[in-house]
Amino acid sequence: MAAESTPTTNGPATTVPAKRPFPDFSEAPAANANESTEQRAKRLAALLSTPVKDGLTAEELMNPQLSGGLTYNDFLILPGYVDFPASICSLESRITKRFTLKTPFLSSPMDTVTETQMAIHMALNGGLGVIHHNCPVEEQADMVRKVKKFENGFITDPKCLGPEHTVQDVFNIKQQYGFCGIPITENGKLHSKLLGIVTSRDIDFLQTLEDRQRLLKDVMTTDLVTAPQGVSLFEANTILKASKKGKLPIVDGQGRLTALLARSDLVKARDYPWASKMPSSKQLLVAAAISTHDEDRVRLQALVDAGLDIVVLDSSQGNSSFQIEMIKYIKQTHPHIDVIAGNVVTQEQARRLIEAGADALRVGMGSGSICITQEVMACGRPQGTAVFRVSQFARQFGVPVIADGGIGNVGHIVKALALGASAVMMGSLLAGTSESPGEYYYHEGQRLKKYRGMGSIDAMEKGDAAGKRYFSEADKIKVAQGVAGAVVDKGSVKKFLGYLATGVQHSLQDIGTRTLVDLRDAVVNGEVRFEKRTASAQLEGGVHGLHSYEKRLFS
Ligand code: NAD
Ligand code: IMP
Repeated sequence: MAAESTPTTNGPATTVPAKRPFPDFSEAPAANANESTEQRAKRLAALLSTPVKDGLTAEELMNPQLSGGLTYNDFLILPGYVDFPASICSLESRITKRFTLKTPFLSSPMDTVTETQMAIHMALNGGLGVIHHNCPVEEQADMVRKVKKFENGFITDPKCLGPEHTVQDVFNIKQQYGFCGIPITENGKLHSKLLGIVTSRDIDFLQTLEDRQRLLKDVMTTDLVTAPQGVSLFEANTILKASKKGKLPIVDGQGRLTALLARSDLVKARDYPWASKMPSSKQLLVAAAISTHDEDRVRLQALVDAGLDIVVLDSSQGNSSFQIEMIKYIKQTHPHIDVIAGNVVTQEQARRLIEAGADALRVGMGSGSICITQEVMACGRPQGTAVFRVSQFARQFGVPVIADGGIGNVGHIVKALALGASAVMMGSLLAGTSESPGEYYYHEGQRLKKYRGMGSIDAMEKGDAAGKRYFSEADKIKVAQGVAGAVVDKGSVKKFLGYLATGVQHSLQDIGTRTLVDLRDAVVNGEVRFEKRTASAQLEGGVHGLHSYEKRLFS
């Protein structure tokens, strides 16, 4: 291509390129000596209109001959094409055969991670809390009950009292269930004539012993706004908003109470649009874990009576006759409860549990941050490979996979989802938030909370104290599979989950897929590509070469 030289006022002459055709392939090498300029331009234009398959498919990445087992840090996802904003990316995901969540996040059933507060906030923010079972049955059932009572549409079984009950009775309900807006009916039960209502405003200042003996007929509010039975939830909400009252009793033609609606639930619905709820009752979804020991059939019944939606069979090695029997038992006795079975890391383990009736599989053996299973048992599998192989098998049966353990950052979440998981389960990442059990304490200037493995000696001994002695009952010596430690304060889970969700949306945008379903499909059909990471590539991918720095993850 010709170029013209122009003199400049000072210094050497610069070169101004002559006008070129568009697209300009004049610098591209010819395919051979005989290729004309025209042929070259045609060939190259055709090449540019065909998507380029760089990197590896997931199957190639996971080729055992080349890779061995891979963990999340061993590979990267190659970026795709972006023609949409991150904010439109949907994180909706089916986590069991029947339940879909707005965000693919579950909290681990561990006694330093998930009790009532964590389960409530996981569900409010679009995820799911799995309540641990390292406690007496009634304690665990009580936690389930509190989550289910936290938010309602129509409350169809409101706690009621009668006119002869006392202020103390209201305080007792408040202590047990956390609310104190109590309808007062003639016989103190539902379906009896509504006489009034007692709310916190009626009893807040009645604190002395004498006050607490006062009868409710003398303190209740009788100036009531009610709605007739048959009213739609939408209409009832409108009446409640207009009334400026805290509660709206629903009554039949004879003035008998049939249900209740609470203003606080309206406010929660506005503040948490992603909340995981049962569509019919509007109650928050809750899961709880049990073991595969026979005595936990009694525990399961108590949890079901408390309102449980999903049960997690909690075992490090799920491929056992004990677990298969338990799945079959649950499917026969409680067909409305979905069962998350596991843990598994191989397709053969998955096959047996799916055959037994599992509604989802929990994947991970030895990958947890507090875990010494691989060290002690010599069993397990690198988590990336485990998630990919089990998901590949389970996908054929429509059984979702939950990647459990080893999630240390947003990138790990996305990698687990790309390898086929429908959701991730997190322990260490959620421990240390204000909603996790336990008190904060200071150590060397840092604010910490305790975090321990459920197979740690520490946790097993607590289980013993709670009358649950079967972790290694037959053994004289307890063999630990986990450690007890601490994690730093992460603030409220509400903000933290918001960070995780937004981070995953941004990652989906980089990959060029708008939904998690699209991501999984694009991986399966080879559109999303991967690359292995050498040890030096991992170093390069982290912060390096600085004297010092501050790592703030979100604001
Ligand atoms: P587990 O209850 O499955 O197993 C404990 C022992 O009880 C095992 O020897 C098991 O074979 C036996 N057992 C189970 N059901 C039985 C039955 N019906 N009859 C007779 N024996 C039975 O619990 P685990 O695997 O030791 O795990 C304990 C806790 O630690 C769980 O919370 C688990 O999630 C956690 N953990 C997880 C991992 C992991 O990698 N994901 C690893 C270790 C521990
Ligand atoms: P983390 O998110 O990496 O901290 O891992 C949490 C997961 O570790 C849990 O969901 C369990 O599957 C697993 N786990 C819990 N307790 C133990 C233990 O004592 N040993 C090994 N793994 C455990």
